[in-house]
Amino acid sequence: MSRIRILPEAVANKIAAGEVVERPASVVKELLENSLDAGANSIRVETEVGGKRMIRVIDDGHGMAHDDALLAFERHATSKLRSADDLLSISTLGFRGEALPTIAAVSRLLLETRDANEAEGTRVEFAGGKLINVKSAGLAPGTTISVADLFYCVPARRKFLKSDTTELGHIASLVTHYALANPGKQFVLTTPTQEIINCPPVEKLADRVYQLFGKQTLDELVEIPSVSADFRAAITEPEMEPGEESATLMVTGFTSRPEIQRPNRNGIYVFVNRRLVRDRLILHAIHEAYRNILPGNVFPATLLFLEMPYDEVDVNVHPAKIEVRFRRSQFVHDFARDAIRQALMSTRPIASFAAAATGNIAPNPVAPPASFAQGFTGGGENSGVPRTVIPHLEELGVGSGVGSDYAPGNGARPSPTGRRIFRVLRRMPRQLCRARSRLRT
Ligand code: ADP
Ligand code: MG
Repeated sequence: MSRIRILPEAVANKIAAGEVVERPASVVKELLENSLDAGANSIRVETEVGGKRMIRVIDDGHGMAHDDALLAFERHATSKLRSADDLLSISTLGFRGEALPTIAAVSRLLLETRDANEAEGTRVEFAGGKLINVKSAGLAPGTTISVADLFYCVPARRKFLKSDTTELGHIASLVTHYALANPGKQFVLTTPTQEIINCPPVEKLADRVYQLFGKQTLDELVEIPSVSADFRAAITEPEMEPGEESATLMVTGFTSRPEIQRPNRNGIYVFVNRRLVRDRLILHAIHEAYRNILPGNVFPATLLFLEMPYDEVDVNVHPAKIEVRFRRSQFVHDFARDAIRQALMSTRPIASFAAAATGNIAPNPVAPPASFAQGFTGGGENSGVPRTVIPHLEELGVGSGVGSDYAPGNGARPSPTGRRIFRVLRRMPRQLCRARSRLRT
């Protein structure tokens, strides 16, 4: 008698959920990525009980036609890939067609969507992977996906979730990342009592950094001006093929002034083609850029954006798409390192290594911290750029019934420090933490 059997679809989806949906923030990640892929300009994330009771993502993207709204819940159903060749050059954040069936398998999911070209929208309801209801509905164009009672049918998984505050911290971190990568789009994150993030579209990355992290963080950073160069093969790499010479790598971002020290890498964010990644090679490049500037046991804060042709990077190497592989890794490494180093060199005289080694983070007394105004045309507090305040997680009072009366945008709160947001972001999704601990070893 044969021992091997093909698992039913429902079981396969629950297995996939083990890889893709680890916690509420993973659901937010998948839904946000879908909204961005759908061309949304405004994305609102509503959460209840740290996302355990409810996650609702509302976007104004292109929506789905009736048939697609149902097809989307089939495994490996995607509008983003057609052939295996497309895998070599992925321009969207999603591509595997796994997220929706996987999330639907472990929650009560309601999809409400309307393609702007259709007269009517569609409402589709799933519970524990079973289709409960489909009907036409009058809806605004765009998509709203509500994920209630995550893991209600997988009690073992539910037990592993952390406190509501911790889970909300992970969600805030995710939304912050995507807000950084898309300054031209609006991101809102709410709980029933608070608006945690609300950043309207802005023109420049500096404005978005200011909205999310505040002036003090902006003052601690220097801009890495956008630099680009054609890809070149390193000595150790295969020669460029004809036509490849035109491929360009572009690097830009912000990095902390030499006197700023962080005890860990939690202030480092790397985006490749606007996808948040955790890449060992780039972390090494950042470390190298600070050689003789920072002692080896402390870290800078860096927001680094790399843009390159899609076929120069393989994003299909990790279940949550958090790790990537570069084709010309040596070139990418050296170019990123040099861009950061150049930005640091153009700043004021650096604190001596000895002073840095004492762990004293006071600004260099010889040269008071330069204002960030050069790189920040908005002009600090009076820039008119609406601010977002991300409160201390302790201040959120989630689960304790202690709500804050803070209303975003009213300016009533004291200006947040950069440390505050980095403290929130320290609570990274577990996969990031794992990647991080691997990097340390
Ligand atoms: P993938 O993103 O890898 O394609 P998903 O399971 O996340 O797989 O989504 C399946 C399909 O559903 C997507 O390819 C897309 O066509 C559609 N879809 C999902 N979310 C949205 C959305 N917010 N707006 C429009 N279409 C969506
Ligand atoms: Mg997706």
